[in-house]
Amino acid sequence: MLPARIPFNNSTLAGKEIDYVTRSVSSGQIAGDQQFSRRCQALLEDVLSVKKALVTTSCTHALEMSALLLDIKPGDEVIVPSYTFVSSINAFVLRGAVPVFCDIRRDTLNLDESLLPQLISSKTRAIVPVHYAGVGCEMDEICQIAEAHDIAVVEDNAHGLFGKYKGRWLGTMGALGTQSFHETKNITCGEGGALLINRPDLIERAEVIREKGTNRANFFRGQVDKYSWVDIGSSYVMSDVLAAFLYGQLECWQVIQQRREALWHAYDEALKQWCQDKHVDQPYIPAHCQQAWHMYYLITPSLSFRSALIEHLKKLQIWAVFHYLPLHKSTYATSIAHRASCCDVTEDISDRLLRLPFYCSMSDAEFARVIDGVTSFKL
Ligand SMILES: *Cc1c(COP(=O)(O)O)cnc(C)c1O
Repeated sequence: MLPARIPFNNSTLAGKEIDYVTRSVSSGQIAGDQQFSRRCQALLEDVLSVKKALVTTSCTHALEMSALLLDIKPGDEVIVPSYTFVSSINAFVLRGAVPVFCDIRRDTLNLDESLLPQLISSKTRAIVPVHYAGVGCEMDEICQIAEAHDIAVVEDNAHGLFGKYKGRWLGTMGALGTQSFHETKNITCGEGGALLINRPDLIERAEVIREKGTNRANFFRGQVDKYSWVDIGSSYVMSDVLAAFLYGQLECWQVIQQRREALWHAYDEALKQWCQDKHVDQPYIPAHCQQAWHMYYLITPSLSFRSALIEHLKKLQIWAVFHYLPLHKSTYATSIAHRASCCDVTEDISDRLLRLPFYCSMSDAEFARVIDGVTSFKL
């Protein structure tokens, strides 16, 4: 008989999620901006010291809101790493932006800030750094270059909630930061996200854009006696049922992060010798970055090594996966106007990176099976 399958990811209840969902439903108020949405937002604002946090239907939608807030127009250029999820740039392309793909650093796999000066043009309107695996990009350099050219920074912080760069929370250094609460992220409600607004002048318009272009938020606060259509916008509000689930998770963020930290270190330690022997690279975390423990990855010596290792693990019922395909080479990017600097590192890493199963409820027995599985692999 085959052993039980070890999934790549498995969402886990952390605390009172079900209790809160029941409370939300029985309150009779399950649309957005009810008690649990407000609690989630207050918690994010309090812990991260951000001026405003708005929970949204997804990180993709928080990115779309960012593009609307920055008035991205057709032909505007947006710089993004090629090694990321499609939403990091698709949200801007929806407004007509031209993607400008930047290569990544070999050490942290984050956007290579040294390439920015050659990628910036008179049309550049935004830079979207992605804190890959929850390890901070070089935000001092990125923000400095952006400021010098009057370009907005939007941090795609889908991996990095509760991580820090030089003591500052990820997602709080750009004009805007976006979070994901998708099932595959550290903190989840299935599908969901948040927009962190660090520039006070963007707050009121963000509320309008999120509420279908209406000033409903002002109405609820009693600032206007009826609400009406005041701007463009869409429906980016999270249901309070999901916010209830999310609050159950957010309340336990420290426990969740501690568990992930322990698992990450256990992987790093248990695989050290094998990695040295096989010339496999382990993740590099700069001393000034306090990572968010989003994933554990290995960088194998070659594509064939990785493919064979994935197959070997699959036979043992262990699901390890590769990650992003270079966006600059995607079918869609190549069909539209775009600019790519040489993205050799992205292409190379994309072929060789392997993510190991990583979730809070992983048992010691499952962990031991993954380690045995990896270390028993011979090419
Ligand atoms: C998951 C992810 C997203 C999209 O998140 P959704 O909440 O599913 O829209 C965007 N960017 C990055 C880097 C991600 O990992």
